[in-house]
Amino acid sequence: MFNLILFGPPGSGKGTQSEKLIAKYGLKHLSTGDLLRSEIAAQTPLGLEAKKIMDKGQLVPDEVVIGMISSALDANPNAKGFLFDGFPRTSAQAEALDKLLELKKTSIAAMLALNVSEEELVKRLMKRGETSGRSDDTNETVIRARITEYRNKTEMVADYYRNFDKVVMVKGEGSIDDIFKALSAEIDQRI
Ligand code: ADP
Repeated sequence: MFNLILFGPPGSGKGTQSEKLIAKYGLKHLSTGDLLRSEIAAQTPLGLEAKKIMDKGQLVPDEVVIGMISSALDANPNAKGFLFDGFPRTSAQAEALDKLLELKKTSIAAMLALNVSEEELVKRLMKRGETSGRSDDTNETVIRARITEYRNKTEMVADYYRNFDKVVMVKGEGSIDDIFKALSAEIDQRI
């Protein structure tokens, strides 16, 4: 199995690049944001609780997202590998992911980290809010709160993987295709 984490702040292009990467490398896309939005759409109790938190720009509790990832791993026993997008977002999530992968006798090959300036992030998210239908993308205060959560709780997750020499920084500004080429070049060296 070949497992990757696509890492970066909200609006750094993880979703866009994930779609292209899973098509090219045949990986299973696991986005906790998408999984949570499916729960919201289905109006499950978990989704209704999560929506309140997401609309404030805060992180959903670790045990909720870890549970969702654990089920998704079990539901895809024949996957060639997984592309994690928006997960892990805290150190506790990173440790839990390592344990879950260990149970499956596999591990993370690399964390690809997209680097984008804060002003560019806010610009992109406000623009996405015009069409995405995502309530957390329409309000600048919520967008800034998400970036603050990222700086306070998520950015340090890269240090966890840096200890294992697994972090690869990639420039996240420029054309979608150029960023995709840069990500692909890094993956090709490791696959
Ligand atoms: P973005 O990267 O643009 O913020 P996501 O779709 O990844 O978009 O996440 C949207 C929201 O879902 C987050 O602001 C957070 O509330 C929640 N969320 C997604 N993934 C996680 C996670 N791994 N841990 C906690 N909360 C999460």
